[in-house]
Amino acid sequence: KATIALRGVHKTYGRTTALDGLELDVREGEFFCLLGPSGAGKTTTLKTVAGLELPDSGAVLLDGADMKGVEPYDRGVAMCFESYALYPHKSAYDNLASPLRSPRHRLPAAEARERIGAIAELLGISALLDRPVGRLSNGQRQRVALGRVLVRPARAFLLDEPLSHLDAKLRQQMRAELKAIGAVQHTTTLYVTHDSVEALALGDRIGVIREGRIVQTGTREEIWYQP
Ligand code: ADP
Ligand code: ADP
Repeated sequence: KATIALRGVHKTYGRTTALDGLELDVREGEFFCLLGPSGAGKTTTLKTVAGLELPDSGAVLLDGADMKGVEPYDRGVAMCFESYALYPHKSAYDNLASPLRSPRHRLPAAEARERIGAIAELLGISALLDRPVGRLSNGQRQRVALGRVLVRPARAFLLDEPLSHLDAKLRQQMRAELKAIGAVQHTTTLYVTHDSVEALALGDRIGVIREGRIVQTGTREEIWYQP
């Protein structure tokens, strides 16, 4: 059964069609990359899943349940946008901890500490946890932002170009880390990128989106060997 399903989703902004009858299935536990050029409708797809945009028509299903009328906070998905919303004056630890302090995700303190410790280790930021986020490098900040998403228990992670601000070397390093995290957590992930190298490196499956439609879906091998 699909964790995330979009059925014939249409979304327009004025005269611009962002999603044109989009069909998408993301299976439980898989790392699914949505790959397409700028303006193809990737971010709109994520926002629609998260409930930040409402489809003009069509349906969004999470674990088979129609999300019509379900508020973003009640959808159980965790999202990371390109512009990372961090608290610059708070420590990296507090930035990671804040989602776990909200009523919806509150965890017992010991469990929260353990979760934060594990995520920090996976992301290679254990030694930075006491530092204010405003004094970290770009790459370090991006790790904290990712950590903030990955730390909360969620039925799916929605990641919007999370590596786009990094230089090539860091990007490659973090790809490997993301893969490791996926292997450990097995949480369904919908990952948006315009970078085919990234999609091929990360995706269990890849969906190619163009002009608001999925034009191709397959495993890495299936997509790779397309002429
Ligand atoms: P992508 O993430 O693939 O770059 P988007 O989902 O952001 O694509 O955008 C899809 C289309 O919808 C683009 O043509 C974009 O300009 C348009 N669009 C997205 N958001 C808005 C908005 N808030 N207002 C008007 N047009 C928008
Ligand atoms: P949750 O989203 O689960 O309630 P968060 O701690 O992530 O928990 O967010 C709490 C609120 O603080 C949200 O409304 C979020 O948008 C907001 N927020 C998060 N980061 C910042 C920031 N850097 N500046 C201002 N508001 C923020």
